[in-house]
Amino acid sequence: AKAAGKRQWRRFLPELRDNMTERHDLRARLDRAIADEEFSLLYQPVVDMTAGQVVGFEALARWPHTRRGMIPPLQFIALAEETGQITPLGAWVLRNAAADIARLQSRTPRPVPPYVSVNVSARQWRDSNFLNEVRTSLDTAGLRPDSLQLELTESVLMRPDAHIDALLRTLKDLGVRIAVDDFGTGFSSLRYLREFPIDVLKIDKTFIDDIPEDPRQVALVEGIVHLADTLGLQVIAEGIEEQSQRELLAGIGCRFGQGYLFAPPMNLEESEIVLRRTE
Ligand code: C2E
Ligand code: CA
Ligand code: CA
Ligand code: CA
Repeated sequence: AKAAGKRQWRRFLPELRDNMTERHDLRARLDRAIADEEFSLLYQPVVDMTAGQVVGFEALARWPHTRRGMIPPLQFIALAEETGQITPLGAWVLRNAAADIARLQSRTPRPVPPYVSVNVSARQWRDSNFLNEVRTSLDTAGLRPDSLQLELTESVLMRPDAHIDALLRTLKDLGVRIAVDDFGTGFSSLRYLREFPIDVLKIDKTFIDDIPEDPRQVALVEGIVHLADTLGLQVIAEGIEEQSQRELLAGIGCRFGQGYLFAPPMNLEESEIVLRRTE
């Protein structure tokens, strides 16, 4: 049995080693990419479905110039979260998203300027320098705090933590908006929604996918929308691809949406065109 175990091990070892080498290599390339600022940002419009207007943009990171083609964000973000590289990468995203949207706002003046929503990893929320980075990004860009929305996932709220609590309150006092991303996929405790100064719930795409066909999903989404209303929160439905989804959401009072039906993530120039078109 021992020999057989050893044989198994020998068989898997090269594969394991390849995997580790690959990860090590990717990590080193990620380091260089962060130092050389090889990333770019795309922006996906968030739409007020009742008014048919763009109200904001979600910033989504891309790593375009890699030897092996494009590495999907989920992959390099997950690695960056594991290694801690998300701290400098996230700071870059925040700085550039704030600067981009400030520029967009000055080029297309509006009574209510569009906001930018930035994804912030759990690790960044726990980082003691994060608040400074937010302040610096706003100041340097000359962006109003209420034009910045920061997204967190339910996992950040799950572990009650004095640091996060104080941080969220400080951001709220500054006027920054806080959104719960992928709402419904984690162990959402409704208690946290009451305890923390949350402004927005982003209903995860998996809930939107099967509406209007699946009455159970419809009931769930309706429940979330009513809950949000009761708590005075905004709701954004994510991943809307079909007109039938939009109609159902409008019918149950979900005002805001994001998805390919309206627009995919796009560069800043294209975002400006979309913004002008919906003026
Ligand atoms: P997310 O925050 O949930 O972002 C929404 C994802 O859904 C984006 O994928 C977007 O392109 C995609 N999407 C939007 N509308 C539709 C639709 O109608 N149909 C479908 N099938 N997909 C849609 P993307 O850009 O590949 O990003 C994946 C994830 O990577 C994001 O999920 C987010 O968790 C993470 N991510 C991206 N940029 C950043 C970043 O700057 N910082 C952090 N921490 N995470 C990021
Ligand atoms: Ca997000
Ligand atoms: Ca999401
Ligand atoms: Ca469908």
